[in-house]
This record gives sequence, C-alpha cells and structure tokens, in this order.
Amino acid sequence: MALKDLINRKDTNKIFDSEFDTKIKLLFSSQKTEWELCGKNYSALDQVRIKEIPFDGFSIHVQFNPNRIISTSADTNEEAIKKRECFLCNLPFEQSRVPFNKRFDLLVNPYPIFKEHYTIIKKKHQPQTIIGNFETLLDLTKSMGNDYTVFYNGPRCGASAPDHMHFQAGSSNKIPIENDFDFVASSLSNKIYSDSKINIYAIEKYLRRMIALESGSKGDLLFAYKLFVDALKRISLPKDEPMMNILSWYRDNKWRIVFIPRRKHRPDSYFEEGENQILISPAAIDLGGLIITPRLKEFELLNKDLVTEIYREVTLTNEHFEYLKNRIVTNILSR
Ligand SMILES: [Zn+2]
Repeated sequence: MALKDLINRKDTNKIFDSEFDTKIKLLFSSQKTEWELCGKNYSALDQVRIKEIPFDGFSIHVQFNPNRIISTSADTNEEAIKKRECFLCNLPFEQSRVPFNKRFDLLVNPYPIFKEHYTIIKKKHQPQTIIGNFETLLDLTKSMGNDYTVFYNGPRCGASAPDHMHFQAGSSNKIPIENDFDFVASSLSNKIYSDSKINIYAIEKYLRRMIALESGSKGDLLFAYKLFVDALKRISLPKDEPMMNILSWYRDNKWRIVFIPRRKHRPDSYFEEGENQILISPAAIDLGGLIITPRLKEFELLNKDLVTEIYREVTLTNEHFEYLKNRIVTNILSR
C-alpha cells in the first residue's frame, strides 16, 4: 500500500506496525499534511538562503533561516528556565509521536533546519545530559539508518530545553562534516588510536578541535566515550557534565561519532547590544559546518575571518586539546 493511502486512511496502527525508519517517514508525512504550522514551516524551508564560505579543502555553509529566531535567542539560564513551562512536556495538540525504546518518543520538529527534522525526547521530564544516555544515542543513530544524522547539544551548549532530555535528527549529508569526514580524518587529523575495531581521531586543522570515533562495535564506542568524558571532566567545568556537542551517523555498518568539546556557550559578540551584536548561538549543527543565522545581518556579515573567530572562541584551546588527547591515549594504553 502506498504511503499516501496509509495517511489518507488515517490508519495509524500501520505506523506502529512498521520498522522504525518507515514509521518516521509516515509520521513526517502525516504531520506535514495535518498540522498547519508544521506544513507551512516545512514549505518555507524551500525559500531559505544558503551561502558557502570556502576554506582550504572544505567549506562552511551558512543558512539564513528566520524561523530559528526562537531557538537562537532562547534565554537558557537557570532562572529563565525555572520560570517557563517546559515546551517538551506541553506539546501542541496537533503533535503526534512515535515511540523509540521504552523511554523516548520521536516528534517532528515544527521549526526545521532540514527537509526532515525531528526531536527525540525523553518521556519523563529529566535534565538534558549525555551521562547515562550515550548508549541510547548509539541505538537511535543505528535505528534511524542511512537517511538521518543525529545530534546532541549539551545543556549549556545550545540546547533550548536544558531541563528536558532530548536529541535531534535531520536529513543526512546536509551538515558539511559528514561529507568532509574521510578527508578530515585522513588529512586534517591525527589518528591517536587505532585497532581492528575502532579508530579515534583528533581533528586539529578544521577550524575547531574535535574528537571523532569510527567503529562498528558498540562496546568499543562505549569504552571510548567513557575515556573521552573522563578526560574532558578534568578540563571542563565540573558541574554536571562537561560541555560538548555530538554529531552521530551510521553508514555501511559503522558509526561515526564526532565530539565537539566546548569552552564557551556563546561568543562574546552574542551579548553585545545594538549594532555590535552578532546573533549566532553555535550548537552541534553550526560547529558541524552549517551555521544558522535567523537574521539577514549575520548571513551577510559572515566571512572566513568571522567564522574562524567564532569557532575558535567557543571550542577548546590548543593547550587543553593536547591534554585531552594525551589523557585519552594514556588511558587506552593502560587499560
Ligand atoms: Zn519537560
């Protein structure tokens, strides 16, 4: 039976009988047709402007997307969060969901950056943290399959709901690092560890410093993740979890996981007033190479120098990164 027929019959049981990636597509089509705001915002996505800023061997993409103003300008300090109602607990009545394992639900994001854009939320209202949720990220990435990339923003690294645990996922191959990965791994990184099951890269010459894992073994990824977090805890703020964003995709029976350790939530220019303010709040997508600007001003202003400066300001210094790398390698060799 065609997808269209399923939707028209509103035979929602069919959604729950299908494989997870099929359920996602069914949910998406039905939400787009049945939820006006959602349909309108996905149609508006055809109008967004994109520009490319070329660097040596790769480029950064910029998307001018006015609908993202709510997220970019979100006040996520503790006081503001306490005062507002949780928008992931108080969903619009039009919102439908597809369950993922026992603890999470997948929803269509009505303020998209990608042709398909999802939010995967914990059923319970619990704080945003990767601690205890990394295995779910691996499972989710694998279940979503070839067509999607999953990402995570730490509570002080771009998550607009730091009080409610969630991941996001978008259409694959729209974030430059995915297409750049093989080139970045071979030419812009140090392979700091490699065996028959896992490669660990320190990405150093890609404007921002990152740690990447490549493996088909869940156990080895969990182990490497633990080493990364333990090492980062020593140089990042000790409160809750160390600051980071994560990008994750699964192709050809392998996960690629990119950790972006952070030293700052937002660049100083974000907090300037009037003319001097630059309203860019970098999170996983932006640091993956697709920078979102909700205002035309920043879309036009962004150039090589400004991108380089914003990336430099919010990610790890060379000194801290050296420490992180050495600590990971030492801990692997001493296991
Ligand atoms: Zn909530």
